[in-house]
Amino acid sequence: MVVKGAGRRKLLDETCGVGVLEFESVGKTYRDGTVAVVDLNLTVPSRKITVIVGPSGCGKTTTLRMVNRMLEPTTGRITWDGTPLRSKRKTTLRRQMGYVIQSGGLFPHRTVLENIGTVPSLLHWPKAKREKRSLELLSSVGLERKLAHRYPAQLSGGQQQRVGVARALAADPLVLLMDEPFSAVDPVVREELHEFLLELQRELSKTIILITHDIDEAIKLGDQVAILRIGGHLAQVGTPQQLLDEPADAFVEGFVGRDRGFRSLSFQRASELRLEGVKVVRDVETASGSGPILVVDGDARPVGWADPDRPGRIFALGSTFSPETDTLRVALDSALTSRYGLAVAVTAEAGRYAGVVSADDILAMVRDVRVAIAESISIREIAAAQTSEPIPEVEEGDEPLGEPEQHDSDELYDQMAEAEQTDDSDQLYDRLAESEDAEDADELYDQMADAEQADH
Ligand code: ADP
Ligand code: MG
Repeated sequence: MVVKGAGRRKLLDETCGVGVLEFESVGKTYRDGTVAVVDLNLTVPSRKITVIVGPSGCGKTTTLRMVNRMLEPTTGRITWDGTPLRSKRKTTLRRQMGYVIQSGGLFPHRTVLENIGTVPSLLHWPKAKREKRSLELLSSVGLERKLAHRYPAQLSGGQQQRVGVARALAADPLVLLMDEPFSAVDPVVREELHEFLLELQRELSKTIILITHDIDEAIKLGDQVAILRIGGHLAQVGTPQQLLDEPADAFVEGFVGRDRGFRSLSFQRASELRLEGVKVVRDVETASGSGPILVVDGDARPVGWADPDRPGRIFALGSTFSPETDTLRVALDSALTSRYGLAVAVTAEAGRYAGVVSADDILAMVRDVRVAIAESISIREIAAAQTSEPIPEVEEGDEPLGEPEQHDSDELYDQMAEAEQTDDSDQLYDRLAESEDAEDADELYDQMADAEQADH
């Protein structure tokens, strides 16, 4: 049987394109000796969603903050499109990388529109242009215009998070860095935000690194998922299906959780299943003989199975599946809910009868896909072993000279980082608000930046 079911596998081969971020033996040890990340090798393909997932304290935030250079690696390096991040100016880098944190990290004393326009105003866009762009973004993240002049506290958690995404998108960055963006909202809103993000990504195709401690979120959103374990070690990286089907070790297996076999079926298209025929009648009164007989209506849509013992009566159909659009999970469910163990296939548009397939055939397909995945993993491992070459030394202090480093975009990150970590963030914001127009604002930001650095 030819297996094309594991289509998502392909993305891992597309890692040589433009805009790839590459972690090369990256390590981070904080000044107090805490080892947050160890020898991380990870390729982040462009225009895909890479999710980094792991338990609390395993080094996820540290990893993300090395990408926009809020933190520097202590060993190894990160390159973007082949260029080391260290040779790029921080301010330029951060304009190309939107940053989203939990609860949106919004400035409470600024309106929604002002929050969204944060980066454009740091870039000194004229007011009219800034407002126009902010209003466009407001609608593109699915928020009504009437929210524009509200303050963050007057929004729901989900709305705040959307504003946070809008703000990150304001300067049209190539990369979106998202640190536990959906952790603070309830499960129903989280589901909505997942759909929102996937929809947005279909439109914008950004290179996204999203961090979460929730494996289900990772599996749902990630084109590629990297699992970290405590101590900042990469446990495994792969497509969601690879992680479910071939966990590298007991830690990963435990982390991906129960039902992984069943959940893995959600990543396999049902379109490769070979459909068979079954006896079909339009009029249940005409059903006769042994074996399964499917009853369809005048439009050829299945309505149920004829009951051989009670002429004229029908059994419930169970669920159906559409080979064009559904996954093996839906197909298997269809077989399991069918009186005869036969999944009934229907056309996606009209719901017309298209054929049947047995539970056994579906499971045979699952086995074939598993074998193909295991082979693709071992092939990639061999290829990786062959191409690995020594990594050149990182040059120290290669921040480009020229214009003096600007602090404006640092401000945003520092404020957000501070606000997230301090308990008295309100107080911080109050100080910021007070000092926004004051001449000593720069000094304040510098102090904050220093404080954060000293911490690390
Ligand atoms: P995660 O985001 O996965 O919860 P972090 O990257 O925030 O993990 O932290 C990884 C490890 O580094 C943890 O042990 C944490 O306590 C430690 N850590 C984080 N920030 C600092 C810091 N500024 N100084 C010292 N240790 C830190
Ligand atoms: Mg974190």
